Amino acid sequence: MSALKSLRAVLLTGVALSIALPFAVQAQTDAPPLVVNLGNDSPERQPGQKPVPNSLEAGIWAETAKVEHDARTSGERDTDPALEAYIGGVLTRVAGPFSGDVRLYVMDRPFFNASMAATGYTEVWTGLLLRCETEDDLAFVLGHESGHFRHSHVMRQYQAMKDGQNAALAASILLSAVALGASLNANSYSAIRDINNVTSGLVNLTYLGTIAALMNYSRDMEAQADAYGLIYARAANYYTGSAADLWRERLNETAASDYEKVRRSPSRINVFGDHPLEADRITALNARDLSLNGGKASFRSPEDSKAARAAYRDHIRPWLGAWLKDDLRRQDYGQTLYIIGRLSRDGLDPGLLNFYKGEALRLRGKRGAEGSDMENAITSYKAALENPDAPKETWRQLGDVYRHFGMNIEAVDAFKHYIALAPDAQDAWMVQDQIDTLSKDLRPAPVITPTEAPTTTPPSINATPAETAPAASSSGGTT
Ligand SMILES: [Zn+2]
Repeated sequence: MSALKSLRAVLLTGVALSIALPFAVQAQTDAPPLVVNLGNDSPERQPGQKPVPNSLEAGIWAETAKVEHDARTSGERDTDPALEAYIGGVLTRVAGPFSGDVRLYVMDRPFFNASMAATGYTEVWTGLLLRCETEDDLAFVLGHESGHFRHSHVMRQYQAMKDGQNAALAASILLSAVALGASLNANSYSAIRDINNVTSGLVNLTYLGTIAALMNYSRDMEAQADAYGLIYARAANYYTGSAADLWRERLNETAASDYEKVRRSPSRINVFGDHPLEADRITALNARDLSLNGGKASFRSPEDSKAARAAYRDHIRPWLGAWLKDDLRRQDYGQTLYIIGRLSRDGLDPGLLNFYKGEALRLRGKRGAEGSDMENAITSYKAALENPDAPKETWRQLGDVYRHFGMNIEAVDAFKHYIALAPDAQDAWMVQDQIDTLSKDLRPAPVITPTEAPTTTPPSINATPAETAPAASSSGGTT
């Protein structure tokens, strides 16, 4: 594998990382108040504009094309026509005159991320789609990405590196690294490392560090992209008054992590604590929304907001279960529970959401928690089963937790329900075997009493291997 090739591979991973700690890299304690001046930005490119042959930009485009090819043929790409049509439709609306310049790839990756490369090649990850509440949210994100693209921020970032102390670095990594430059969030070395641990294992950390440097857009560029996000989304007739909430929610999710190390990351501290930068960015977003909307925030009415959430849910419902299942792969169950709590606010999809709440609690409980996760999993599965949209597997998982507690009578009953509902399931024979085994020992087991919410979290076994001490508290179990 050539150096460039491996760097590209790393880069692809690196983008993934940007979700965990959205603002980490930009931490500068003495940052002045944020004044977003779009007049300072690079001029907007023309629709259909191509680079001058043999120019630096042309080289970037050629490298980016290779990365795009990798994305197009990736096994993680979701090519469901209905999903591509829906997300692509929103992208087309937001891109406006540039709709012919952008190409969308939806990637099945459980992280909050989107990117738009210098060539218009655009990735949207399903973890982001899971975390949007309305199409307005998605439009703002795509508008933010469009801002980086339409104003050639990759080139500006490269110029800044070249002018600064990183000239050699800029020259050496530019051609491959720049391809993914228009990441939604600023990257950080630690964010990359954490996500890398979840996703693909060993990657050369030196490469990751250099990539983080390149993709660390300046505070100005991020704030400018935020402003463009509002402008382009509004031009496409979306509401933008809640745009800042999308950023705030990332911080709330960070705060809900199972892992103290994640909870204490700068992305959280910055908004709720003493760091002015992210608070400034949110303030700037809200202020610009007011000015764009004649001094009045661009909000839907509460009823209309609820309708917008329901409409968006209707679009993503076919994938909701798969995305939640993917999110569990991150093994940060506190965060998954936080997301489920948000998704549950309007009472939609109660069977499915309670099932995955039960799954998150069960998995966290199995990891060795001393808390009441397993008991609460029973409560969630039972709540799911009161609704027609509960997956058939709810009975099987409920049986598994009963078995965990030695409640063999209840376990056998639950497993029998599962077999009755899914007699042709691939694992039906295994579940029947469980029934046969447990039926030989049907003594009553001690009764357990589910409690309100988990009170402790277990040692980490995932993305933050350095942290092994139990976390102090958890915001999980929010529904
Ligand atoms: Zn950005």
